[in-house]
Amino acid sequence: MTNGKGRYSLPALHYGYGDLAPSISEQLLRLHHDGHHKKYVDQANAALERMEKARAGDAMPNMRCEAQALAFNVGGHMLHSLYWDNMRPASSGGGGRPGGMLADVLNKEFGSFERFQKEFTELANSVESSGWATLVWCGQLERPLLVQIKDHDLYAIPGFKVLMAMDAWEHAYYLDYKNEKAKYTASFWNVVNWEVIDHRLERALGGKR
Ligand code: MN
Repeated sequence: MTNGKGRYSLPALHYGYGDLAPSISEQLLRLHHDGHHKKYVDQANAALERMEKARAGDAMPNMRCEAQALAFNVGGHMLHSLYWDNMRPASSGGGGRPGGMLADVLNKEFGSFERFQKEFTELANSVESSGWATLVWCGQLERPLLVQIKDHDLYAIPGFKVLMAMDAWEHAYYLDYKNEKAKYTASFWNVVNWEVIDHRLERALGGKR
């Protein structure tokens, strides 16, 4: 996700642009990845450049403005990177049900996978304006939580490990579903990559279980 030179870079998708259809069309995925996500990467790097330039010239940047730009755009970059990776084509193992440790953790917290799915769906459908629906691991409570993220404000929840992220901004579905977000959410379940989400949980637990 970085270029090794102190700059962020756009990650390549692990599947073809058309491979998530019909959940997400090729046209929508191209626009979202190459357009929206790339813009967050470019704007984060531009904020870094402005701050470095000011530092080199011994000037003070508009710190509040640049720090907000950095937080917003890096948050967007990180969340989109998680989102692309926690999806996979339905034709190659996407969707279905989780297994492994993730299945146990979800059953323990929610009672059943179906109940988790129902709550996450409601979480996603109830995002107002721009935001994300996420399943996170709270290390302090040692339990999973359902959390909405306003815009891209990842910095609001230090310590939470994002296990599963679903983009609920209008740009994530409008081209395919118009104003019917519930159809997008329902379709998202067909392309969830449970394996990746289970690995994230294992990393969050740090081998404690
Ligand atoms: Mn997005």
